Parts: sequence; structure tokens; C-alpha cells
Amino acid sequence: MSRVLVVGAGVLGACVTYHLARAGAHVVVVDEARPAGGTSGATFSADVTHLKTPYAYYRLNRQSSEEHIGLAAELGGPRWRHPVPHVQWAEREADRRALRERAQRARGWGHACRIAPAAVLSDLAPAVDPAACPADEVVVHERTAWYDAPRFVRTLLDAAVRHGGVETHYGARVTALLRAGSRVTGVVAGERHRTADVVVNCAGPGADRLAALAGARLPLRRVPGLVAASRPLPGGPLTAILSAPGIDLRPTPDGGVLSLSWEVDARLDGTAVGGLPQELHRRARTVVPALRGVPVADARIGVRPVPADGLPLVGEIPGAPGIYHLVSHSAVTLAPVLGRLAAQEITTGRTAPELAAYRPDRPLPGDVHDENLRAMDERRPRREELNPQPEV
Ligand SMILES: Cc1cc2nc3c(=O)[nH]c(=O)nc-3n(C[C@H](O)[C@H](O)[C@H](O)COP(=O)(O)OP(=O)(O)OC[C@H]3O[C@@H](n4cnc5c(N)ncnc54)[C@H](O)[C@@H]3O)c2cc1C
Repeated sequence: MSRVLVVGAGVLGACVTYHLARAGAHVVVVDEARPAGGTSGATFSADVTHLKTPYAYYRLNRQSSEEHIGLAAELGGPRWRHPVPHVQWAEREADRRALRERAQRARGWGHACRIAPAAVLSDLAPAVDPAACPADEVVVHERTAWYDAPRFVRTLLDAAVRHGGVETHYGARVTALLRAGSRVTGVVAGERHRTADVVVNCAGPGADRLAALAGARLPLRRVPGLVAASRPLPGGPLTAILSAPGIDLRPTPDGGVLSLSWEVDARLDGTAVGGLPQELHRRARTVVPALRGVPVADARIGVRPVPADGLPLVGEIPGAPGIYHLVSHSAVTLAPVLGRLAAQEITTGRTAPELAAYRPDRPLPGDVHDENLRAMDERRPRREELNPQPEV
């Protein structure tokens, strides 16, 4: 397959472009905004392998985590992957039990995690107020990381362009698909007609709309989430990812703290954020007291592209050939493996058995295979169509 047009320059678009370029394809990348201007620029982007079920999906995530390390080495070790431990604890007895059971399940699958006395927090994350952890035990994930997703995207796209055969066009929205019968043969972007042997749909939360232009249905929900970043923490950066009751925290590239809360997200109402960044910051300060007096530097709403059963949607839809869909929640974790396998299928025409369970025309809906998404569904009403501004 020689000419491929990738719509979307987020983590998935960047990964598939990199692998397509390596395989010798000519690739045109089109994005209505800029690289990482969508969800990949407004995400918590921690490694979330431990939250995934069933086992095969957990394995896919774990494989991808390992491929992040391989990619970084291949590209000369650029720092988009930040290895730190992830420490979780819970308050209510039922939540503690659930956390413990999840850790035991993960350990049974060979995941590097342990149940430890809460006292380990003072070593792993000295910035945490011990009073913020009423539990007597915590779960520690050892070989995990958070990702600087915009840097990851830029690094892969730059490497693809350096490799040759890659053109990028930013600020160009795809408004229509070119078709010969039912087959997609290109796109109309910024009033230009661009033909291709295959169009790859990496439009994130806009992927179902793009699919609809081909007469195909992608079962996708848009789930907004708010992340707030603080200015740098005095005394040095946070040394762990933290999942505490009602708040998740991780370091930012410049030494600040990034906060996310499913409970705060449940109060998001369209584009209105009101005082919610301050609410996130207040929750963060109860865990990390050094944040007192450190202002919020940035707050953004990202829109999670969430397939109906939580699992990725990868491949063509019968009846609408010529457009290959590549859409997933948790795509910062999953991009290395999904981008590689998708590029392999597109360039060789051979199906990858690893992707068999993720075809977009599989029967739906099923169970959501992600602990976080399940928790989200319990806490918030479903809002199918939201169009929040990416920055606030
Ligand atoms: C609050 C929050 C927390 C998260 N936490 C994590 C986490 O801890 N770990 C994890 O792995 N994942 C996490 N995720 C999910 C992850 O960020 C997303 O799955 C991932 O960023 C999606 O990447 P993408 O490349 O598919 O989409 P995007 O990054 O949205 O890229 C799609 C691109 O397509 C472009 N586009 C769309 N439509 C068109 C069109 N018609 N024409 C041209 N261009 C178009 C957009 O401009 C955009 O740049 C989180 C997400 C959110 C919002």
C-alpha cells in the first residue's frame, strides 16, 4: 500500500504514521488543529495497564507499555516516558477491598505490583501528607510510568518526517470523503481533494463523525475530563503517580502537579468549567500540602473517545472499504502497539491476530473492560454529544 492519508495528529495518528513511514509508505497527515491539539494535549496520560480486563486486553496494554520503552530507545531516548511508581489507596472499606482484589488479580497475571504498609508512602512520595492516607495499606505498581503525550506525538511525527515520504498539513479540517462507489478514495480537507489508497481515521473523539461520512457507524461515546496543572512544586517534583480517594495526581514535565478527579468530572457540564479547576487544586492540596500557595497554571478539558464496550476499534468496516479506523480510549498507553499493528495490516494486507477482538463491526455493546470507566459510569450521567472547547 503506497499512499496513505492519516486524519488526526494525536498519539494514534503519530504512531501509525511513524510505522507507515518506516515500512516505506507515502503518508499525508491532515489535522484540523495542530499535533496533539486534541485529546492527546489534554490528558492524564499515565500507564493504565493495571486497570484493564479481560486478560487478553491487559496483555495488549502491557505489550504496549513495553513498546514505549523500545520506541524511546529506537529514537535516541527522548524523554516522553517518565518511569515513577504508582501508589493507590482507598478510604471506604468496600473500596479498599476492591483495590486489594484488583492488585491480587494483576499479580496473578504477572503484573509488577504489591500490597504494602502505608508507611512506604514516606519513601515513595515524601510530598504526601501522611494524614491524607487513612488506610493502613497501599498498592504500589512498580514498573509503570506517566507519559508526556504532546512530546511523544511531536517526537514520532518529526522522526517520520525525517524518515522521508511524509507530508503534514495542519489547520485543514476533513469535511468530506472522496468515494468510488462504496470505496473511500481520499478526503476533502481545507477545500483540497487528496486521494489515497487508504484513509486512516485517527480523529479521536471525532472519529465517529468521520466514519459517518463513509456511511459507517463507529459506536463511540465522548466523555469529557478536566485536568489542571499547577506551577512547579517548591522542593522538587512529585516522585510518584498517586491515586487517592477522589483525586489522581502525577508530576508535569516542568515539575508541577497534574490533577484529575472522576468526581469533579461528573460535575462537568458542557463547556462550563466554573470553579472546577480550583476544586481540583483544593483536593490536590489535601494530599500534597506543598501545593498551598502554588497557583494553577493551566486547566483543560479533554474529550475521551470511548468505544461502547471500552475496547479499541481497529480496522475497516465491511461495506465501507478504503477507510481504516484506529480509535481507542487509553490510547496514550496503547498507541505504540496499535499504531504498529495497524501500519503492518495496512502495508502488508495481512490481518494481525492480535487485533481480531477489536474489529469495529463486532457485536456491541458488552461489558466495559476498564475499571476507571466502570467507576465513571457509576458516577456520571451519560452525555453522548458534547463539544467542549479544548482549553479554558
Ligand atoms: C481527562 C483524560 C484523562 C485521560 N487519562 C489517560 C491515561 O491516564 N492514560 C491513557 O493512556 N489515556 C488517557 N486518556 C485517553 C487518551 O488521552 C486518549 O485515548 C488519546 O489521547 C486519544 O488519542 P487520539 O490520537 O485517538 O485522539 P486525539 O488526540 O484527539 O487526536 C485526534 C486528532 O484528530 C483531529 N481531527 C478530528 N476530526 C478531524 C477532521 N474532521 N479533520 C481533521 N482533523 C480532525 C483533531 O484535531 C485531533 O488532533 C485520558 C483522556 C482524558 C480526556
